[in-house]
Amino acid sequence: MTDTLTPIENRDEQSPAGRTLRRASDLVDAGLVDRDRLIEIERVAARYAIAVTPDVAALIDPADPADPIAAQFIPSAAELTTTAAERADPIGDEAHAPIKGIVHRYPDRVLLKPVHVCPVYCRFCFRREMVGPGGAALTPVELAAALDYIRARPAIWEVILSGGDPLMLAPRRLAALIAALDAIPHLGVIRIHTRLPIVEPGRVTARLIAALAAEKAVFVVLHANHPHELTAAVGDACRRMTRAGLPLLSQTVLLRGVNDDPGVLTELMRGLVARRVKPYYLHHGDLAPGTSRFRTGIAEGQAILRAMRGDASGLCQPSYVLDLPGGHGKVPVGPNYLTRSDDGRTLVEDFRGNRHIYPPAS
Ligand SMILES: *Cc1c(COP(=O)(O)O)cnc(C)c1O
Repeated sequence: MTDTLTPIENRDEQSPAGRTLRRASDLVDAGLVDRDRLIEIERVAARYAIAVTPDVAALIDPADPADPIAAQFIPSAAELTTTAAERADPIGDEAHAPIKGIVHRYPDRVLLKPVHVCPVYCRFCFRREMVGPGGAALTPVELAAALDYIRARPAIWEVILSGGDPLMLAPRRLAALIAALDAIPHLGVIRIHTRLPIVEPGRVTARLIAALAAEKAVFVVLHANHPHELTAAVGDACRRMTRAGLPLLSQTVLLRGVNDDPGVLTELMRGLVARRVKPYYLHHGDLAPGTSRFRTGIAEGQAILRAMRGDASGLCQPSYVLDLPGGHGKVPVGPNYLTRSDDGRTLVEDFRGNRHIYPPAS
């Protein structure tokens, strides 16, 4: 790639839905926050980026103080309070970053982070200290070095494009990156983690989808947290992608006040599956600075999953994972259904909560 890898940050003029809200005053002018909160939100904005797309703004009911979309995207003064357990690099990316743009934690797969910008900025983001309009994309030289790192290591089987949101790359740049990865013989899979199809579905154009065409399997993992996010336009974007042969998965962050409820999560997972999106991960909230209001306990998460197991199809069950601080990786922390009886036999709990000896006595 010879061109610079500049993301399209200023595509706003092109958007039929209007302009992304990026300043505290934009949120006030749009009626999403009261004017008396302007100073508070400006203080947060000085520290953490704001972006609310028109699609997302349209989902917010300003009259509802508990609106699950507003909670995810409208800043709060609570973000300026960092608890003792919270840290700038909550999952230890830096401990496993051999060169710029690469995180290599597991033997067979790497993260490649070509850009630092996102279409929206989530208030609970685990990379909130790294992302934002100020963060530079990889330069052509840095990207070439990252690709060389992957080429030189045959043990790498999968490249996960993350960021930032990799679909913020202009389709031409994205196509060049996918083609470069597609040409690496030892890679089996290219995976893309993105929120764009949920928060700005109109940008999932034929050109963008064509940029993802490859001989290798290209999996797209969508980030969705609440059933309100699954609009008709989002459904159309999913259909365009699945028709192009892209397998879709989803990831969800367990968030207090947004989706910490089995009914809400079941509705979300069913909505995803009905749009041909297989729920992959439910993430326990990371220890990102100023995000304590969103975190549940792990026991709460387990109880929610236990309740979902009985009520929803197996297709709707994500795996509940904790990404350990320090860079030790993701660990499944879902409920456990196996115990031992006093005489050492295995007891298995069914979805109603009844215990059974396994193997049965007779
Ligand atoms: C989350 C993550 C992955 C992907 O993990 P999977 O369990 O394969 O989805 C890979 N590398 C890093 C550094 C990660 O944080």
